[in-house]
Amino acid sequence: MSKYDVIVIGAGHNGLTAAALLAKAGRKVLLLERRDSIGGLAGAVCFHEGYSAPGILHDTSGVRDWVVEKLALGKHGLERAGKEESAVFCPEEEGGGLLLHRDPEDAADELRRVSPGDVEGYARYRETIVRFRRVLEPLLNESPPTINPSSTGDFAHLLRLGLKARLLGGEGMTGFLRIVPMPVSDWMDECFVSPAVKALVAGPAHDGSYLGPRSPGSAAALLFHEAVAGAQVKGGGAALVGALEKACRAAGVKIRLSSPVEEIRFSAGAVNGVTVAGDERIEADAVA
Ligand SMILES: Cc1cc2nc3c(=O)[nH]c(=O)nc-3n(C[C@H](O)[C@H](O)[C@H](O)COP(=O)(O)OP(=O)(O)OC[C@H]3O[C@@H](n4cnc5c(N)ncnc54)[C@H](O)[C@@H]3O)c2cc1C
Repeated sequence: MSKYDVIVIGAGHNGLTAAALLAKAGRKVLLLERRDSIGGLAGAVCFHEGYSAPGILHDTSGVRDWVVEKLALGKHGLERAGKEESAVFCPEEEGGGLLLHRDPEDAADELRRVSPGDVEGYARYRETIVRFRRVLEPLLNESPPTINPSSTGDFAHLLRLGLKARLLGGEGMTGFLRIVPMPVSDWMDECFVSPAVKALVAGPAHDGSYLGPRSPGSAAALLFHEAVAGAQVKGGGAALVGALEKACRAAGVKIRLSSPVEEIRFSAGAVNGVTVAGDERIEADAVA
């Protein structure tokens, strides 16, 4: 029976990432997936031989740059669109609509046509986001601080996070603390005139949440989205999964499909492996 340093359960994009990072760090890694294909919700779904549809995860803007770099995903075929390329479109009932680019210069012509009063407001909004993002994005890439700090290292971590937040400056911090608890509709009313512009900008505040535009805190959800939103992966979730699989194989991860884990096993209070359906036992020092 082989013994592994780490068994990772589930070959979704998080399992693939964890497995590749661990293997690159020198661990002997086994990745167990219960389905007959990898990717989880990000994987393409084959609905008829030769035909497949994108998985449920269609928006790949949350992929972290440090993961792409650390796993050299570019070398494994990952291509991303330019950071500022993403545009959203709002159709209007009377025909036509508004195509809004992220970059205020690219957006200016379209805004001048649809809502001239929002050209300057949109540039100011993007400036605010760039300022907040400089502080928020690195914070979101860090491990969260421990809830009960006790060691010097814990306090040093908290201090480092606090110092980073100070980069906003007094005025920036006041603005940030004012916006975070707001309903996103109030924030949009302050920034823009046109309902279409407000809706296009505020849309992501409602992604994956039960908050409506007038819910307190929905402005924070928009800020969170803006802080993590990077470039989309060309080819979507399936292309991301393809590059992660190559990174796993290059790092020496063993991937097993059709292997549902039924139990994580313990001995003397410590994890010592898993049981896969069919009563197959596999030993490992750690299970992720
Ligand atoms: C409707 C919907 C839309 C979404 N849209 C987006 C989007 O556009 N962009 C975005 O970034 N996020 C989106 N999300 C969130 C995103 O899908 C999840 O955050 C992401 O899939 C989590 O990845 P994961 O690898 O942790 O888990 P999953 O993708 O769920 O993968 C888990 C894997 O583990 C396997 N597994 C489970 N149990 C076992 C077991 N016992 N043994 C072996 N294998 C097992 C599963 O078969 C699966 O392959 C969406 C979520 C939903 C529900």
